[in-house]
Amino acid sequence: MKDNNCIFCKIANGEIPSKTLYEDERFRVILDLGPATKGHALILPKEHYANLYDLPEEYAGDAMKLAKKMVTKITDKLGCEGFNLVQNNGDLAGQTVFHFHLHMIPRYQADRQTIGWKPQEVSQEELEEIKNQIIG
Ligand code: 5GP
Ligand code: ZN
Repeated sequence: MKDNNCIFCKIANGEIPSKTLYEDERFRVILDLGPATKGHALILPKEHYANLYDLPEEYAGDAMKLAKKMVTKITDKLGCEGFNLVQNNGDLAGQTVFHFHLHMIPRYQADRQTIGWKPQEVSQEELEEIKNQIIG
């Protein structure tokens, strides 16, 4: 299904032009308009799924396989030295476009970007409790 109010539905289905790196029946890979670094690209499913919760499992698997192909190609062509895959779900997590997308961000020696978090302290007891909350 498509969502008429969703810009990524329009981009993924070619109604709005984009710098497309790859396209198949299910996905389009485009260059991000506000790139973190040179070659920052997004994998978009052509169907509208708001986030990873909604994305069918087979799409999730295929998106990661496609990421591997694209990361390999972009590394080869642009000569980056590392890559971050980022995928935000929900406002709080920094999602701004509510159509699933997987960021592929090439990293270069002097790119001056930071993608990360501040590690917190946690005890073994707390880890055990969290583990039990999740799998218990
Ligand atoms: P989010 O914050 O939702 O994880 O990421 C949204 C991304 O989409 C941002 O990196 C932003 O630069 C990119 N973006 C937003 N609108 C457009 C657009 O119209 N075209 C392209 N190519 N990228 C977009
Ligand atoms: Zn959409």
